[in-house]
Amino acid sequence: MELDPRTLVVACLMDAALLGVIALAFASREGTTRTIGTWGAAMVTLAIGLSGIALRDLVPDIVSVGIANAVIVGAVVLALRSLRLMRGQATRDPWGWGLVALVLILQAVFSEALPSYRARVAVASGALALLFARGALILHPDVPEEAQRSFRFTEYVLWGSAALALARAGSALFDKSPELLAPGMLQVSTFLFYIGAMTGATLGVLWMQIQLLQRDLVRLARVDALTDVLNRGAFLQEFEREVSRAEREGGTFSLAIFDLDRFKLLNDRYGHPTGDLVLKGFTEILRSAIRRHDVIGRYGGEEFALLMPNTGEETATRVAERVRREVESRGVEAAGRRIDLTVSGGVATFGLDGYDWDSLLSAADTALYDAKDAGRNQVVTASRRPAARAATA
Ligand code: GH3
Ligand code: MG
Ligand code: MG
Repeated sequence: MELDPRTLVVACLMDAALLGVIALAFASREGTTRTIGTWGAAMVTLAIGLSGIALRDLVPDIVSVGIANAVIVGAVVLALRSLRLMRGQATRDPWGWGLVALVLILQAVFSEALPSYRARVAVASGALALLFARGALILHPDVPEEAQRSFRFTEYVLWGSAALALARAGSALFDKSPELLAPGMLQVSTFLFYIGAMTGATLGVLWMQIQLLQRDLVRLARVDALTDVLNRGAFLQEFEREVSRAEREGGTFSLAIFDLDRFKLLNDRYGHPTGDLVLKGFTEILRSAIRRHDVIGRYGGEEFALLMPNTGEETATRVAERVRREVESRGVEAAGRRIDLTVSGGVATFGLDGYDWDSLLSAADTALYDAKDAGRNQVVTASRRPAARAATA
């Protein structure tokens, strides 16, 4: 079977144009406009560059070789910009655009002044190899757990493209390469590979974006937007998981709830926005005072819950007491000043005060009310409440 390279270039450019249009349409609908939109623009640019190549021998060489190759390299620079946008990196790329200018100049030199087909291929393929490798390196570090597969997939597509481009640059330098559009296995397989790589990379970019969006959605659904701790629903799930674990392994765990003291007064005095900052400040203190496996949730306006896996009553009370003390001594930095704050807490323990959410929450809540009644700024442990002691006496 003979495959005609020019037909393949046309197939390649139609593929690029189609992928570009799909990406642009996707971008205008989803909340991912910048990344996907830039990728779409890169693909459309690539299609324009490839149409120059397809017109080889029909238009002057400076267009079909010089400008076309520089436009293709520019399209890849744009594609890398899209990857940087996705990763939240700076998008200024003087190095990349400098490379485009260099390719343009060298293509002009090797078409007009010192005509050499091999030098032109080496320049264009060498530049592409560098850019593909840079793209793979943009995707390599710090991949979010939830997007591992899509990132690795796209990274490998880019490494594969870099290897092919490098091989092509090398073969142009050291071998006598056939003319670009002359039929031959090497030409045909190069274009076939690029069609696959372009399609693969575009799907990879969409896939990465979907996995990142999915991660953000899961986060939004689980995390309280103001304080960045788990919301009530997500905290409850963690609680249920802990109940199953304690039942399975015969272990225990504790629940502490905290309620900021006189928070209504604080809001009245400093205003609601400052109150919000105080809530954030409190969760920061809470985070710094607890251990690695403990889980924080916001289960009411200024009410927070702390789940302490594998923790008995005594230790749990000590942790809650540490939180109370830290809040009292550090206060909270908000709106440029220190705001004094105290917190009351109630502690309940699985097995001692109940076996499910309702009973443990109610035990911790009653203890909390005792703490409030006794003058606030203290932690009360459910089984050691005066009332509980009176009942067991
Ligand atoms: P106590 O010591 O008895 O707990 O007194 P308190 O004033 O803290 O108790 P109360 O439950 O009467 O008031 C809680 C206040 O918390 C009322 C509400 O306006 C405020 N609040 C609840 N959610 C938020 C929030 O997201 N931001 C701010 N700024 N305030 C909130
Ligand atoms: Mg309250
Ligand atoms: Mg309160």
